[in-house]
Amino acid sequence: MTRALFALLLLLWVAGCAADPYGPNAAGICPLIRVAEMPLTIQRDVMFVDGTIENQPVRLLVDSGAERTLLTEDAVAGFRDPDGIRPLVVGRLDDAFVLASETCALDIIGAQVERELNPGELVVIDADGPRYRQAVEPRSASLCIFEYIYFARPDTTLNGRGLYEARVEMGRRLAAESAVEADVVIPVPDSGTPAAVGFAQASGIPFGEGLVKNRYVGRTFIQPDQALRERGVKLKFNVLRSVLEGKRVVVVDDSIVRGSTTRKLVTMLFEAGAKEVHLRISSPPIISPCFYGIDMADQDQLIAAGRNVGQVRDALGATSLSYLSLEGLQEATGETSDHFCRACLTGVYPTHIPDEMRLSKLRFEPLPAPAAAG
Ligand code: SF4
Repeated sequence: MTRALFALLLLLWVAGCAADPYGPNAAGICPLIRVAEMPLTIQRDVMFVDGTIENQPVRLLVDSGAERTLLTEDAVAGFRDPDGIRPLVVGRLDDAFVLASETCALDIIGAQVERELNPGELVVIDADGPRYRQAVEPRSASLCIFEYIYFARPDTTLNGRGLYEARVEMGRRLAAESAVEADVVIPVPDSGTPAAVGFAQASGIPFGEGLVKNRYVGRTFIQPDQALRERGVKLKFNVLRSVLEGKRVVVVDDSIVRGSTTRKLVTMLFEAGAKEVHLRISSPPIISPCFYGIDMADQDQLIAAGRNVGQVRDALGATSLSYLSLEGLQEATGETSDHFCRACLTGVYPTHIPDEMRLSKLRFEPLPAPAAAG
């Protein structure tokens, strides 16, 4: 009975990670550590957990941006980092309990949300049910604001707020902040869709689908080099000429990282007959890299770092470009700014970032080709 319960928990955790393919899982965290015949301990001063993976001893560091789960013979445990950068939720399925990074994983299996873990909080679940304790002092309340913008699925709730509704609201505010005369509003699917719905609602411009997404390829910004990213755009999207031809088009996307995807999309839309292409982005410009588990890009690869909006528009080849303001984004979350990490949008990090960590952002990028002689 006990083993069956924990096997279920294990499966549900894996399902939770699969439902969140670009959050913690894609960032290389979301580890599942088997603690063999060892008591689960967190030593407060240095914050690590000892355990084993396939009989090899491991020491699991507990750091910002990392949510951790551990499975023993008798219990499963979850720990949320002391800055609360990534969410971790406990759910209930009849008399069993589950852990997931997003509530949508609970919906899929019919579980109910029990509660979200607080920063620095540990839950140990065994045959007696869940026991919570504040394992380490919370350092800050710095939930990643990009969970609201892009990472988490729209059918997830965070802090009691449905992310679909939050993203629609971002689109409404974007329309109010940057009105434009146009014939059709289209999303960059799927992540730009809720904001495009909100933009169309607030502006009165009809919503349409001008880009069709290939559902069998992954996210392009996370590809390891530029050539793969460029090829990925062509594989990922096709245009609907009948929606675009002769039209002034508003294109709504959630964010722009390097700009390579957006630049290609703008070109494709003009080639399909669009008269004007107005880019509307439902987040502020990304100007700094992420050091909390999301491999976005290094600073000098971010198109908005060191460029103003007009320069970014020119680099992308669009007719016009507007971003949602930081205030507009914040209000759409329904929370105040002191609940969030917004470092990639502001350059202000909630924790100290060591120099070696900043340099390590380049380690998977290939060296540029040598310049031709002469
Ligand atoms: S830097 Fe940006 S992506 Fe990274 S945790 Fe903070 S808000 Fe999220």
